[in-house]
Amino acid sequence: MSGLFVRGSCGSSHSELRVLFTNIFRDTFLIGVRMNNTTLTKLTRQLPRLLLAALLILLPLTAAGCGDGRPPEQDTSAASDSPEGLVIVASIFAPYDFARTIAGEVAEVSMLVPPGVETHSFEPSPQDIILLNTADVFIYVGGESDAWLEKVVASLDNPGLTLVRLTELVATVEEEELEGVVELEEPGEEADEDGLEPEMDEHVWTSLRNAQTIVSSLADTFSGLDAGHAELYQANAQQLNDELGALDTRMTEIVKNAQRKTVVFGDRFPLRYFVDDYGLSYYAAFPGCSTAVDTSPATIAFLVDTVREQDIPVVFYIELSDQRIARSIAEETGAQTLLFHSVHNISKEDMEAGVSYVELMRANADNLEVALN
Ligand SMILES: [Zn+2]
Repeated sequence: MSGLFVRGSCGSSHSELRVLFTNIFRDTFLIGVRMNNTTLTKLTRQLPRLLLAALLILLPLTAAGCGDGRPPEQDTSAASDSPEGLVIVASIFAPYDFARTIAGEVAEVSMLVPPGVETHSFEPSPQDIILLNTADVFIYVGGESDAWLEKVVASLDNPGLTLVRLTELVATVEEEELEGVVELEEPGEEADEDGLEPEMDEHVWTSLRNAQTIVSSLADTFSGLDAGHAELYQANAQQLNDELGALDTRMTEIVKNAQRKTVVFGDRFPLRYFVDDYGLSYYAAFPGCSTAVDTSPATIAFLVDTVREQDIPVVFYIELSDQRIARSIAEETGAQTLLFHSVHNISKEDMEAGVSYVELMRANADNLEVALN
């Protein structure tokens, strides 16, 4: 990944090494901070990885001939395989896909969370920190589940970095309490540490209308930082927004012509912004960013009853889910299970196949049509 060493070439090898080590230990510290009760176990597990990372980072630097007497100018030109354009990093797939569609031809766009990884349990590597230290723009959600990223951002040595928080670009709503959901008590967990305060629902990108606002805003940000390509950014954004607008129209039509206006998710429910756009009601097993892996028999029973009573033909699961709860509701009721993609992240295979937000939402439209009829 050319982004890693672009600005870390040997011209200033010693201070650069110091920065790298500082970052690695800071990263170790951050991982520790995030992990609370399991800090020590986690740290022990992370150490070999961090040491390996340190070695991997040091090798290219020494191999590149630090201190071999070459003039610094040469080193600077050696790093010129870096693109002229912006270095853009997005935390998760939806904004990554928007950014690469808008700017991918002339910018280096990368995603922080690797494909196939559950975004809520993601931990950054030292390389991620280095990448963020070289970036021009960092796009992340700005919600409860990535609040720890603020600490990472605060620790960066990159004053020129432009931060874009998705939740600041559109109006947000609070997470609603789910009807019929009886939460399991987690063993050893302190009762309601966070109190009963409702949290902001952070899944703003699941609304096709919000997506268009986000796309326009990203195009403006990129244009402001790189005026030479402003026309290209705006044209690409317009084309993407035309597709998103057409999809929104299709969703509206599907809901308007549907037999029912209720969806059931045997899974987490990060789709509040999506259903709100079309006036759909919903039932689900977990709130949007829940880290719980199991639900109570009472919740399952409630969802089974709901599916039976309302004769609901489809129980949805979301991407990268084990589908266990959706399947058990489906088996109990004779409904079928279908995927509704919340576009947090995509699988490795989908990433390699170049799957886009628009394609995932088109598949969602097809499945929604089945579920509502
Ligand atoms: Zn989430």
